[in-house]
Amino acid sequence: MKKNIAVIKGDGIGPEIIEEALKVLDKIAEKYGHSFDYTQLLMGGIAIDETGSPLPQETIDGCLSSDSVLLGAVGGPKWDKGKGSMRPEAGLLGIRGALKLFANIRPAKLLKPLSDACPLKRDITDKGLDLVIVRELIGGAYFGEKRTFIDEYGHKTAVDSMKYGDYEIERICRVAFDMARKRRNKVTSIDKANVLDSSRLWREIAHKVSAEYPDVDFSDMLVDNAAMQLVRDPSQFDVIVTENLFGDILSDEASMITGSLGMIPSASLGEGSPGLYEPIHGSAPDIAGQNKANPMAAVLSAAMMLRYSFDMREEADDIENAADKVLEEGFRTSDIMSEGMTLVSCSEMGDRIAAFI
Ligand code: NAD
Repeated sequence: MKKNIAVIKGDGIGPEIIEEALKVLDKIAEKYGHSFDYTQLLMGGIAIDETGSPLPQETIDGCLSSDSVLLGAVGGPKWDKGKGSMRPEAGLLGIRGALKLFANIRPAKLLKPLSDACPLKRDITDKGLDLVIVRELIGGAYFGEKRTFIDEYGHKTAVDSMKYGDYEIERICRVAFDMARKRRNKVTSIDKANVLDSSRLWREIAHKVSAEYPDVDFSDMLVDNAAMQLVRDPSQFDVIVTENLFGDILSDEASMITGSLGMIPSASLGEGSPGLYEPIHGSAPDIAGQNKANPMAAVLSAAMMLRYSFDMREEADDIENAADKVLEEGFRTSDIMSEGMTLVSCSEMGDRIAAFI
């Protein structure tokens, strides 16, 4: 199969980790007879430096005409003082909007060789931790009307509105229910329906969609309870579906309990547009350029790309198994290093994963 992949390395450790993901993809192409063509595009701080914009039109066009997008990370102290639209993160929000990526999918799975890195007690992790958070990505408070003004009493006041339409809730719920059918057939919808109108509509639509999936076990949970249950007994969850702001917070909590930020991939999917695959971590400026970063999240993001955008399930399994094998053999980058293990660099980790494929 021939596929065109838009590659955005970005800033900080972005170029280092994406290099390893491409190494692994090349190995897959060789083994399975595929051809992956990469188009390198600019976004984030490097794009500001070279073009004056965090998201040049050429990058949007290049992504739209690709089969899929692989992204490293953007941002760094050099660009922190820029105004809203001139910050690297504006590129991220912009590309999500341009590709209409409404569904963000973040798996959180505790791998056996890394169970020591999990901050939860052994009796909790022994029950297992393997869940997926399906987060709505282009609605809610991050995209609703926002303004800062002086109120009638002279107080400086700011408002962000959390707005959702029924169609937005319905389409994200369908993604979650379809995913549950490929996993353990369970969906938990998270909201704050005891307080928020937008959550009451969320709950109504989630129940409506659930009726079309009688084979999937469905329940709702309030977000405050969900934050607690994630650390009390994460084994109860299979697929979690929630709105943008709650999903942002809960998915970081879920990633923390799996051990390291450097391990977790994500996928953002739209309707009829190329998917975007990226690690959940940032550009880690503190270790950039030192060949120290953990490339696993980038490599596993490439595996998600093969699974969800190209329907190459065997190839995706191959990458995930190779990553597990490298960990089982005791190889660790510094972020997941523990006693008795062998410390490897970013590029060595990539070499070892590729060698297992
Ligand atoms: P970060 O995720 O970059 O780093 C947090 C900590 O985790 C650091 O100590 C870092 O060294 C470590 N870390 C992260 N990824 C790692 C990896 N692959 N291997 C080893 N260690 C890793 O978060 P931050 O420090 O809050 O943000 C740094 C910059 O990244 C900021 O400019 C921020 O805006 C940006 N950011 C970008 C994205 C993105 O591109 N999607 C996401 C989050 C933050």
